[in-house]
Amino acid sequence: VITLSSVTKRFGATTALNGVSIEVERGEIVVLLGLSGSGKSTLLRHVDGLEQPTDGSIKVLGENVAGLSGRPLRTLRSKVGFIFQQFELVPSLSVLENVLTGALATLRGPRLGLWSYGRANKLAALGHLDRVGLLDRAYQRADTLSGGQQQRVAIARALMQNPEILLADEPVASLDPESSDQVMALIREIALDRGLTVLCSLHQVDLALSWADRIVGLRHGEVVLDTPTVGLTKAQVMEIYGRVATTTS
Ligand code: ATP
Ligand code: MG
Repeated sequence: VITLSSVTKRFGATTALNGVSIEVERGEIVVLLGLSGSGKSTLLRHVDGLEQPTDGSIKVLGENVAGLSGRPLRTLRSKVGFIFQQFELVPSLSVLENVLTGALATLRGPRLGLWSYGRANKLAALGHLDRVGLLDRAYQRADTLSGGQQQRVAIARALMQNPEILLADEPVASLDPESSDQVMALIREIALDRGLTVLCSLHQVDLALSWADRIVGLRHGEVVLDTPTVGLTKAQVMEIYGRVATTTS
């Protein structure tokens, strides 16, 4: 459902992606592994149509992302949920309202306040909050939650779009190990429940190995590893990354 063919992206003199070709199939759970600056965020942003490639082509759910704009791009983007490292919640809004903003991708016009989203959306939002274990926090301000809880709210918000694909850009990079494990486990459970395709960037080798079905390794904007995690060892991953990568685990 995601195909990148020889994608190159340059920002001025910087080549962020260099001839990247990847194919992700429906229901696959894939980690993009790479050091800082290897092009993980740039790649994810291309899949969501937030960046256009300098060269190459990108197909998402059968559509050519590079040629899309306006309404067809919005329609495609509504099928792609995105979770960020810094959660990106609106701190002063309630947890429930933050989840509801996930429906904005599919609604027309601005929304003000809880009820403007309609009863069906509100019920759906409460259902998603229940799924991530935060139903009892629905009416609390988002900024009163812990980091791990805020990321779970962001997951519920992404679910409001009924996405087919979930992109996650270092979703646990700012969390402690225990919350990280919880959030990663939750993403995997939900993805398996709903048959979602997941592309998630990480920089921890151990977590990638235990969590993903497949690892795509990026270095300096190039794919240097693309292999199922079954039978893959940390030593093998490290060998490919070389000495630099030993600082990332
Ligand atoms: P990190 O782990 O630090 O988040 P990353 O793997 O996500 O790193 P990217 O953010 O994709 O890396 O950046 C890849 C390269 O592209 C870097 O050299 C970065 O400076 C450059 N880059 C990314 N976005 C832009 C931009 N909008 N303008 C200029 N350069 C950019
Ligand atoms: Mg990044």
